[in-house]
Amino acid sequence: MPYLNADLHSHSTFSDGTLTPLQLAQRARQGGVDLWALTDHDELAGQAAACAAAHAQGMDYLTGVEVSASYAGHTIHIVGLGFDSGHQALQKGLHALRHSRGPRAQEMARQLETAGIAGAYEGALRYVGNPDLISRTHFARFLLERGVCTSMGEVFQRFLTEGKPGFVPQRWASVEEAVDWIRAGGGVAVLAHPARYDLDATLEHALFTHFVACGGQGMETVCGSHTTAEAARYTQLALDLGLHASRGSDFHSPAESRVDLGTLPSLPAALPPVWDLLSSRIQRAPLSGHSSH
Ligand code: AMP
Ligand code: MN
Ligand code: MN
Ligand code: MN
Repeated sequence: MPYLNADLHSHSTFSDGTLTPLQLAQRARQGGVDLWALTDHDELAGQAAACAAAHAQGMDYLTGVEVSASYAGHTIHIVGLGFDSGHQALQKGLHALRHSRGPRAQEMARQLETAGIAGAYEGALRYVGNPDLISRTHFARFLLERGVCTSMGEVFQRFLTEGKPGFVPQRWASVEEAVDWIRAGGGVAVLAHPARYDLDATLEHALFTHFVACGGQGMETVCGSHTTAEAARYTQLALDLGLHASRGSDFHSPAESRVDLGTLPSLPAALPPVWDLLSSRIQRAPLSGHSSH
């Protein structure tokens, strides 16, 4: 039985989301999701709770993570799905990525202080659910609380992005490392929200072919930050590259996310869905009706 409503990209309090894995699972189920993955940034600590909560809601589950990677000076996000979350290479790689976030956050706060905004480190920390995972999102929430900005969009236009106060360039994993860690754990690597990277056509093509050469197998064609036109464009590109398609809301918070869990349009029939590659990796809910045969 095929999945009618897979949502394979979302964030909990273990990274920069505001809901716990249990609250997310309940919300996903309310949105009609039948296959779910929690994909926290660079962190697997929520996986066991997410899988248990998914099963309690009658949803099938895929392990998930969103790995921060760097390519030609740009930050690229690679979603891993269906890996063994106890795998050493993945765990070690993610641990190193998390480790670099503390010093980065201190430097972000120093820059904001120079720009006249004091106390940003402590302010951001109050929004952090996982002390290992302080992110730009937590600084953004602090800037909103202070009234420095009135929307998330405004924060990322005026701060925390290249050339603006609070942006600290970061060397994340290479694309090759991120894909290797995911595949070593038996998972599938998916290029997240491809329209979000500010790449010209040449560099975009170079990234996509490099991702495939490294062993990447999926592209998120239907996601919370894509317009209909972008979904169509990346569907065609995924088809040309022989990639499987993934679908994910990238849900972070009821107050902040434009797209709720389970509410995106379906994947186009022209592309094979990424879960076709993962049938042996899906953790099936008792009595879910999705059999492995
Ligand atoms: P970091 O991993 O610390 O670089 O933070 C990246 C996170 O910031 C992303 O996962 C998003 O949750 C958030 N973010 C980045 N750009 C934007 C934006 N333009 N609007 C809203 N959130 C954003
Ligand atoms: Mn995020
Ligand atoms: Mn992302
Ligand atoms: Mn995300």
